[in-house]
Amino acid sequence: MLRTAIAGSLPKPVWLAEPDKLWPQWRASGTALDDAKRDATLLWIKAQEDAGLSTIGDGEQSRQHFVHGFVERVGGIDFEHKVEIGIRNERYKAMVPQVVGPLSMDGRVHAREAQLLRAHTRRQTKFTLPGPMTIVDTVADRHYGDRVKLAFAFAELLNREAKALQADGIDIVQFDEPAFNVYMAEAADWGVAALERAAQGLTCKTAVHICYGYGIEANNKWKHTLGDEWRQYEQVFPALARSRIDQVSLECMHSRVPLELIGLLAGKDVMVGVIDVASDAVETADEVAETIGRALQFVAHDKLIACTNCGMAPMARGIAEAKLSALARGAAQVA
Ligand code: ZN
Repeated sequence: MLRTAIAGSLPKPVWLAEPDKLWPQWRASGTALDDAKRDATLLWIKAQEDAGLSTIGDGEQSRQHFVHGFVERVGGIDFEHKVEIGIRNERYKAMVPQVVGPLSMDGRVHAREAQLLRAHTRRQTKFTLPGPMTIVDTVADRHYGDRVKLAFAFAELLNREAKALQADGIDIVQFDEPAFNVYMAEAADWGVAALERAAQGLTCKTAVHICYGYGIEANNKWKHTLGDEWRQYEQVFPALARSRIDQVSLECMHSRVPLELIGLLAGKDVMVGVIDVASDAVETADEVAETIGRALQFVAHDKLIACTNCGMAPMARGIAEAKLSALARGAAQVA
């Protein structure tokens, strides 16, 4: 059987947070919010199992945003006075916290949801953390004055949490690095090294997710500027192939990525994006199987993991559920 997994995030139920937003407001606070996060996580574990996925995640139900969910727990950061900056090379504006002193971290970030996930599925589990370079691109630095130094400071803290996730029984720790597709030369130069620092010493599987972003308008416009062939992965894949990261993702469904770029990842597991997160049209199992078939020309069956192109956070819940089902049914056709 082909392995199947989600990239990371899933939509939050309307009783947990505002729908259709990248930085949604929570509906409750205190213990009521803790309970709501727990309920939503359990619900999505069940939905992923019911769909038939082989690897299960927490759907990132406990974090407001995939980067700030981690950064919120880091000392040396001022979350009270956020500032607006252009992120991903000015592709869109975001309100971000400021780094105002040396980074530090007491205790855990994701213990509760990781342990909940481990306790409620017998299948393989994957847990996501933001990658160091993408974090650096999603905060305003007023202290370090050097993106590389700041990335390695974050990498050290990520490494601590990643090791704790492994101790919780998580099978795959994945770092999300959409910034690798934006700053390709820097990604190859120091981004992969910072990523390896974050994954240092882990004995569980490690993964990196690199994508063309959520299905928001700014990303859809950006993709129209990228030409007929999207070759961003070409610059960073060789550095990742030399790294100790086990699994690497790429977008395939409705993307213009030349699939022969998979050949640059020899020896790695490849998470092949076969579900478009920028469209509400639900793929058929045949379409999923066809996309997997094209990727299988460049990667062996036992190295391919059928996956979503990116996270599904800003999507309607019913559509996300239907897409999970299409993912599993399409993969089953190939097996
Ligand atoms: Zn993504």
